[in-house]
Amino acid sequence: MLYLGIIGYPLSHSISPKIHNAVMEHLRIGGSYLAFEVKPSELKDAIFGAKALGFIGLNVTIPYKEEVLKFLKPIGEAKLAVNTIDLRKMEGYNTDIYGVEMAFKSAKVDVNDKIALVVGAGGAGKAIALALMKMGARVILTNRTETRGIEAVKALREFGHCIFCPWEKIKELKVDVIANATPIGMKGFSSGIPVPEEMLKPEMIVFDAVYNPLETQLIKRAKEKGCKVINGLDMLIHQAEKAFEIWTGIKPPVSIMRKVAIEALEI
Ligand code: NAP
Repeated sequence: MLYLGIIGYPLSHSISPKIHNAVMEHLRIGGSYLAFEVKPSELKDAIFGAKALGFIGLNVTIPYKEEVLKFLKPIGEAKLAVNTIDLRKMEGYNTDIYGVEMAFKSAKVDVNDKIALVVGAGGAGKAIALALMKMGARVILTNRTETRGIEAVKALREFGHCIFCPWEKIKELKVDVIANATPIGMKGFSSGIPVPEEMLKPEMIVFDAVYNPLETQLIKRAKEKGCKVINGLDMLIHQAEKAFEIWTGIKPPVSIMRKVAIEALEI
């Protein structure tokens, strides 16, 4: 039996159980992928408890992507943030980076040599910044809390070119790509958009990591301004694809993952 799960706090927004359970059913693999809302004081017990119970792997979401590094060996770029744990080896992976690269690839968007502004310095912000750097973009990162933004940029510099811009100065920037890595626009969080609207220009590339709703205010306004938009769906699907492969060695059917995700998000 294959037991998998996701840990986070709170966890009401996750559709990962639906995606992975559909894959297991399709591949006729017995087991289950479950969601666990874990309190901060119980994070360590939750991880080791899952391992003791025979779980193979866990996904990690807000707010634990950095915190879990204390208990794991990060593989490669996962030292920035972990979203996938292999409990058999106590290894941490970051499949969000692959998810972002695939989202841009699927949208046939080339960011080589472009200047990209990443808004947010959490797990998603660092993954998006690194993916953009790997695709050849020059990345500027901003964050509401300056110290956290500067720390993220320091960590990212090990992998390439990245600079920090204070939150109140972003409107002075001229960029080709804007990527939202905050929960602004997420269902149940806050409406609105994470950058001043006047920054959105025709031909600009706008990526929103938020996938619920699929059309956030940012995506809607960016479309109206003639920008090329990419929503968070492909990042979600492809990070799940890579995680499943790490846990099982099997490449899951992406078309089924996409179908289930869209159905879950349209409810
Ligand atoms: P996180 O680690 O908790 O980081 C949240 C980031 O958002 C921080 O930089 C935080 O800034 C900023 N932030 C939060 N509220 C804000 C506000 N009201 N105004 C301005 N900035 C605010 O979360 P995360 O894991 O990076 O996730 C961020 C978003 O990406 C979430 O909406 C999540 O659903 C989405 N996401 C999508 C995917 C996908 O597959 N599509 C994958 C991962 C995450 P401070 O440092 O100032 O608090």
